[in-house]
Amino acid sequence: MPTELLGLTLDELRRLAAAWGEPAYRGQQLFHALYAERRFAFARMTNLSHSLRERLEREACITLPALQQRYTSADGTVRYLLRLADGKTVETVWMPEARRQTLCLSTQAGCAVDCHFCATAQLGLVRNLTAGEIVGQALAVLADQPRRRSNTNIVLMGQGEPLLNYDATLKAVRLFADPKGMAIPLLKITLSTSGILPGIRRLAGEERRPKLALSLNATTDAQRDALMPINRKYPLGELLAACRDYPLRARERLTFEYVLLGGVNDTPEDARRLVALTRGLRAKINLIPWNAVPGLPYGAPADEAVATFQRILRRGGCLAFIRRSRGQDVAAACGQLASLDTSAPPAT
Ligand code: SF4
Repeated sequence: MPTELLGLTLDELRRLAAAWGEPAYRGQQLFHALYAERRFAFARMTNLSHSLRERLEREACITLPALQQRYTSADGTVRYLLRLADGKTVETVWMPEARRQTLCLSTQAGCAVDCHFCATAQLGLVRNLTAGEIVGQALAVLADQPRRRSNTNIVLMGQGEPLLNYDATLKAVRLFADPKGMAIPLLKITLSTSGILPGIRRLAGEERRPKLALSLNATTDAQRDALMPINRKYPLGELLAACRDYPLRARERLTFEYVLLGGVNDTPEDARRLVALTRGLRAKINLIPWNAVPGLPYGAPADEAVATFQRILRRGGCLAFIRRSRGQDVAAACGQLASLDTSAPPAT
């Protein structure tokens, strides 16, 4: 079996070079070619010796996820359906902006968490992704996007619960952030969790970690139990206590995501409870009007309810933003990722 290089760290590539009887700096050259120059054919790694390239051709491989389908939204967002080496598929979303782009990556194929408003939950958990498959999504999409900006944000908010695939996710984060590779600052990488308490506590102890977003979506345990059964295991009070203990870096804030479901969690009382729950936390709140998912028993909130909700939060001293999701017309918006490959015609 050839050795898969995608997902190996600088140290791992140095060790591989040493095991092959090469000087350790060859490992660094490989790392640079792979993640900084993003060359995926050994023949194009002209910084390596001819004999090493020949050996790599025989004994190693670089397996990027294959682009199965690409759906382009009217707003420029692109939802990619990517096929992994074993035939499983995941989704990655590309969101271009004037000065940067944001990549929304999956950390698992499907998801076991069962948030009731989320399309991915309907898939169940297919499997965890490897670090190489998480990083590979970004590399495959960047290679497909010729008009990219130099600034890239990464959000781990696609399919899956990142903290239930902790080691591979953190390894991928460190690969993104390595200054000798893709060099994406840690504060431009955000991990979003449904509230996996042991994972949040473990992340708090990491020296090198991404920013943390908590998908809150409710202001009482009864309400959150009904929307997100994971709340029965890790209830609101314990989650918010972990948030209060969470060590924030300079200029860092926690993010609370709050999906507004019409008539369910979008009342003025909910907004007032949210103010009380988050009081004193260095945080911002992203309000996300629900994106329709066929077959789920929810509706989008009324515009007036969304505006009132935000007004109450702001009057209560919260930093609150309304996030109109992008890519809704191609099922690329928050909560819509379900590996659909027939929901829209493929982009040309
Ligand atoms: S919202 Fe996230 S954690 Fe919840 S089911 Fe969907 S993908 Fe899983």
